[in-house]
Amino acid sequence: MDASAGLKAVGVAALSAYVGYALPSVTALAAVRRFTPHLAGRGRADHVALTFDDGPHPVGTPAILDILHQFRVTGTFFVLGEQVAQHPDVARRIVADGHEIGLHGWHHHNSLTMTPMALRRSVRAGLAEIAAVTGMEPRFYRPPYGIASAASFIEAHRAGLVPVLWDAWGKDWRADATPQSVVDTVCRNACGGSTILLHDSDCASALDSWRTTAAALPTLLTELRSQGLTVGPLRDHGLR
Ligand SMILES: [Zn+2]
Repeated sequence: MDASAGLKAVGVAALSAYVGYALPSVTALAAVRRFTPHLAGRGRADHVALTFDDGPHPVGTPAILDILHQFRVTGTFFVLGEQVAQHPDVARRIVADGHEIGLHGWHHHNSLTMTPMALRRSVRAGLAEIAAVTGMEPRFYRPPYGIASAASFIEAHRAGLVPVLWDAWGKDWRADATPQSVVDTVCRNACGGSTILLHDSDCASALDSWRTTAAALPTLLTELRSQGLTVGPLRDHGLR
């Protein structure tokens, strides 16, 4: 069995043990995405999963929610525990509007800079805050920056979370992003089965970057629908 077949066989959960705490922690994401399509969010061929990271944001998230409501579309919001604590009403509106909540951690910290104990605290505190504020128990976990250490996989697995990254993004966090550049960048890579990464908050992005995201969304959703794709949350994406 070669390395790629091996990784496919063991899956994401066992990948933690496969990599081990002792290794220098980088899970070589390009390779992981290629070898473990479920980690890259590859789902049903007729469906595209729409995901937003870094919220809730007091202005950005409601702006995004308003547009999704107009289009009758739901998505998955990977929230930060500290943002949920600061903006609980916005977190509750995400759920009330029918969207899915995923865990992005407590702070927006790179997992490679965190000890296993700090990662454990981040995951558990994040889940506890989400449960206390929204009553939800997330199923999916996405580490900040999409950078996962072996320890972060292990902590996610212990908490019963499924790690999911993405295979298409809009680079909407950049200061030079425009609504058209976000649409073009997403559509360059997105296809049936894709998981799209966008941001409803600028807490780890260029100031007010969510405005670009919000301005791009109507065109993006129209384009995806014109391709015959259903846009929805990860829970409907057919991931194992
Ligand atoms: Zn993030």
